[in-house]
Amino acid sequence: MSLLFAALLAVAAAPVPADPQRVVFPDSVSQGAMVIGKVPPGSEVRHAGRMLRVTGYGSVVFGVGRDAAGPLQVSVTRPDGSRQTLAIAVEARDWPVEKVSGVPPRTVSPPPEVAARIAREAAQVGAARRADDARADFAQPFQWPVAGRISGRFGNQRIYNGNPGSPHSGMDIAAPAGTPVKAPAAGVVTLAAPDFYITGGTLIIDHGHGISSNFLHLSGIDVKLGDRVEQGQVVARVGATGRATGPHLHWGMNWFDVRIDPLLVLERAKLAARSAVVTLDGPHLVLQGATGDPDRMQVLSDFALRLRRCLEQRGVALATTMVNQPVIVLSEGGQELELVMPDRLGAYAFWPGRKPGEAMLYTIIRGKTQSSVQELAQSYFEGPPCPTAG
Ligand SMILES: [Zn+2]
Repeated sequence: MSLLFAALLAVAAAPVPADPQRVVFPDSVSQGAMVIGKVPPGSEVRHAGRMLRVTGYGSVVFGVGRDAAGPLQVSVTRPDGSRQTLAIAVEARDWPVEKVSGVPPRTVSPPPEVAARIAREAAQVGAARRADDARADFAQPFQWPVAGRISGRFGNQRIYNGNPGSPHSGMDIAAPAGTPVKAPAAGVVTLAAPDFYITGGTLIIDHGHGISSNFLHLSGIDVKLGDRVEQGQVVARVGATGRATGPHLHWGMNWFDVRIDPLLVLERAKLAARSAVVTLDGPHLVLQGATGDPDRMQVLSDFALRLRRCLEQRGVALATTMVNQPVIVLSEGGQELELVMPDRLGAYAFWPGRKPGEAMLYTIIRGKTQSSVQELAQSYFEGPPCPTAG
């Protein structure tokens, strides 16, 4: 029996040093960020005049506006009635001025006769963004919807044909017309409009808890209202419809009516993937990752779930008898954090790091050779992710 295996048995037998009352949020966040925090399941969480939806495992999410100024207040009432109010600092960003010329004049100064149409279309978009669905698709590590150069950044102050407009509400990615657009994370289609006046072909995918993606100027839409889409599924085609100077994908993200920066959401996912190392040690698959903030804890937990699904689809049986803790224990700077673990993740447990800032996730795997499991795990980071179930 390897030393590691002995250690694993030790943690399985040891009492879990859980503090189910702990509340975990980052100390500071960027303007335009998507923030994921952890609270005891069953808590009531308020932020920005809203009651935040809490998952069964205690995750909450909110967005930070482009012009938000800190400190942001989050108040948590635990199931036992005790309360805690957090103050989160906001890091200000620079918002350069960006001149856009050659935009169709009718979209910059629309003729009065289309005012009613524009208002009606804006109302449809507003209604789609008000969805507050219990799905937690927002916790997936987001992927680029198309590959390409960033041709317009979120938040830049825009001047269209010499006229000051609103700040840029999303991220533009240069890509030829007709390029397939892939869902950056799973979700449900809440708006599929082929021809809006300002935004052209317009698609909204809801990722749950008020987080949504919108794709504009599309030349085609491959899904319909109410469809469930999986991450990586082709949902639309790049175009230049509406107020656009040429083919590109405009990808916006929202937390309800608060616009957030897709690039920050992608960077969060990239950071988490880079920080995780997959190795095999005897019968164990070890995921080792820096867990400096709760966002990354969420990503690592989500990764574990996806990896397990991936393994199961390829006929890898997971033993659930060795480790079946209800709580994932993480170590951050010598301080333990914990994360309530879904039942379906029963085969996984985090082991407090050997060094501060590290945590390990063990899985016991039967019925596969080490190399096939390792290849699978590596391919998660280096190649396409797990195949879609079904
Ligand atoms: Zn744009």
